[in-house]
Amino acid sequence: MPFPLQRTRAVVVLTLAVGLLSLPVGCETIHPDRPTAEPVARSADPAPPPSPVVPTLPGKYATRRGCCVFYHDFEFSPDDPLLAEPENLPDQVYSELRLPQGNAVVQVFLFDTQSRYERYMFDERFGRYKNQPARRAYFFAEPRIGGGEELKIYTWMGDHLRTDLRHELTHALLNGVLKHVPLWLDEGLAGYFELPPANDGVNPQHLDTLRRGPLLQDLARLEKFDQVKQMEKPEYREAWAWVHFMLKGDPAMRKVLLDHLQALRVNPNPGPLLPKLREATSNPDRALADHLAGIEYPQSRSQPK
Ligand SMILES: [Zn+2]
Repeated sequence: MPFPLQRTRAVVVLTLAVGLLSLPVGCETIHPDRPTAEPVARSADPAPPPSPVVPTLPGKYATRRGCCVFYHDFEFSPDDPLLAEPENLPDQVYSELRLPQGNAVVQVFLFDTQSRYERYMFDERFGRYKNQPARRAYFFAEPRIGGGEELKIYTWMGDHLRTDLRHELTHALLNGVLKHVPLWLDEGLAGYFELPPANDGVNPQHLDTLRRGPLLQDLARLEKFDQVKQMEKPEYREAWAWVHFMLKGDPAMRKVLLDHLQALRVNPNPGPLLPKLREATSNPDRALADHLAGIEYPQSRSQPK
């Protein structure tokens, strides 16, 4: 996007006083080595600064796998396990949540470095999403000219890439088949599916932190959020906990969540979830605490990068 170049007209006037005032009155001696007066100099307008380099998207290569097209500027091994995620994750998400398979194509922009990613996304002058809080990866559903939405994931080749891809891809898969995904639920489900199937939905870091307490769950508060900046780490943890509680706890809780998701397929605002949970269990907060205490998760299970 063009921006106004601020030009300042610099006018430099150089004069040199030759010490006339210090000469003795009446003395007309002129020293031959007296410095001559500097010429008056006025510059032209300064040359405009070199055009800043506007950050660009990766796109030297495009690799299609499953539901995704990856855009990248480096060569990818076709055997890279990352490329298997778009082939496997949709089945896992849709079957566990009893949702129909979507057919949307997700564009994944893979930056080679963090700095290039951050410049494209958040640079205060050029960042395409500079009004969003800086995060390691993002998913956006953007209106497409002519109707529909473009589903886009932006991230970079860091240590958390596989987890981040699964997380953002879960957002894309949900947004592809639901009329609306409430923010807390979107993040809770993404946190549930971001680690490989062997984790069975358990996020060990979230679990450890929640078990150390204090456990301050408040689903009514989470359900009011509608801006990304309202979700920080404690809210991500809590959202994951509610989702894990419903999907892996009592079957009655699971039914509440699956019914809510079915409602969201046709109705963007089926109302809050908490009242429905209260119909299924008298004290959801207590039931959640009991659930978290009872999750069996071997500490030795390694986490993928
Ligand atoms: Zn997310």
